[in-house]
Amino acid sequence: MQFDDLSPYSYTRMTSKASLKNVGWLSESVPFCQAPTPPGLLAKIEAATLPLRNPMRGIHGCPLCEHEHISEAIEGREFLLGMSEAWFPSPHDEVIYIAPSLLLHYVKRHDYLPPTELVQAAVALPASEAEWDTPRGAYRKLVKRYGD
Ligand SMILES: [Zn+2]
Repeated sequence: MQFDDLSPYSYTRMTSKASLKNVGWLSESVPFCQAPTPPGLLAKIEAATLPLRNPMRGIHGCPLCEHEHISEAIEGREFLLGMSEAWFPSPHDEVIYIAPSLLLHYVKRHDYLPPTELVQAAVALPASEAEWDTPRGAYRKLVKRYGD
């Protein structure tokens, strides 16, 4: 499933008062930005990957290296990716970036560089996901309704 970065989220019927934007829905046939990972980003992606957001039936493998079962280590434990999402609220606006959980793999193994506005939002978030929210609370409402 490929969606352009920052296009409106449409993969599931999930809705929010915040603007939901796609990030990291990559495919092998559409070029994407590759660059070294900005400092501080990986820790936020790991924090967003640990809670199972919008879990789905079935597992998506990586379309880039064509492995069917992708797992990555977070805090020393292996986590299976490709069956949930990673959400990133902007601490400055009512915007939530929605990525497939494979985002962690794309960044670590394929040097994917997400859009600058996602990077800036993610790096500005507190270390603990429990403290993440948008200014008017749309992120925590989304977690309550579709979190897991
Ligand atoms: Zn891969």
